Amino acid sequence: MSKVKEAKPFGSQGGEVDEGEEIPRLVEQMQREDTEADVHVDEDSDHEDDTLNQVPSQWTNYDHSQLLVNEGETVAWEYSENQIELKDAVQRWSAKCLRKEFRVVKSSPQVYDVKCIRDDCPFKVHAYLGKYDTFWTVSRIEHHTCIIEELESQHRNLTADFVAQHIYSKIVNNPGYEPKAIINSIDDDFQYKISYSKAYRAKQKTLEMRWGTYEASYHNLPCVLNTLCERNPSSYFEIKHFNLPQDPTKRVLQRAFFVLRACINAFQYCRPVICIDGTFLTGRYKGTMLTAIAADGNNQVLPLAFAFVESENGDTGTGF
Ligand SMILES: [Zn+2]
Repeated sequence: MSKVKEAKPFGSQGGEVDEGEEIPRLVEQMQREDTEADVHVDEDSDHEDDTLNQVPSQWTNYDHSQLLVNEGETVAWEYSENQIELKDAVQRWSAKCLRKEFRVVKSSPQVYDVKCIRDDCPFKVHAYLGKYDTFWTVSRIEHHTCIIEELESQHRNLTADFVAQHIYSKIVNNPGYEPKAIINSIDDDFQYKISYSKAYRAKQKTLEMRWGTYEASYHNLPCVLNTLCERNPSSYFEIKHFNLPQDPTKRVLQRAFFVLRACINAFQYCRPVICIDGTFLTGRYKGTMLTAIAADGNNQVLPLAFAFVESENGDTGTGF
């Protein structure tokens, strides 16, 4: 409060007045300023409280890899409202913790409890989301006392999802990253050899996290082609479905064809010959991609139209 008063000395109001001089108008003004100053101070203190109640940004960006060396069990760590982050932190911490394993005792929207898989070990982590809180608080941590004599063949906490999160950037930067390299990477980081199938599943999950599932890609195809033709007037596309024999209410994408107006326009400057070629698709659903191409007077190849078909045969070639 004093700071605010000092900021507004008497002289600042225009008139030269000696301190202590009693002039009714000035006294009245001073009282009014005092009241205003009080209001300002109250507003400021409220604002400060707001700032204090906010979760510091470093809590949500906590570097989980350092949890092992920062084992201050009296410290309550706090995580954002997203429980996935908390689970990931506990899982990462546990995996770094000399290959100990834990099981989830309770996982609800408000509480997350885990304990060691061995009954004689006191390890536990208790975390909760307070009623009015926007972050999770880890309020209790007991450490492992168990000793692993032999490696279990399956580490229950090193799940394919966990591995997928861990290797995400490696896979996204290099989709050709082999499952064997994933096994070695996990072994380096966690001193544990995961199985080949888990490494393979983790890679598939990472690819899906980044680029979506195969199912979603096929599901989105008609929508994408429709948008493509809307944005490129006079373009054309066609989708062919068939009904699933086991469940006729479900339709399955059989073929897709599309041609852009720009390609049609360009064809008039090409030689009057169209070549059709196909290449097989290597994704989960196989199939073939057909392309119609032309060549101009300068022998430059111009793609004209594209089709996705079940295989390269007479029927699909004719349809194309
Ligand atoms: Zn334990």
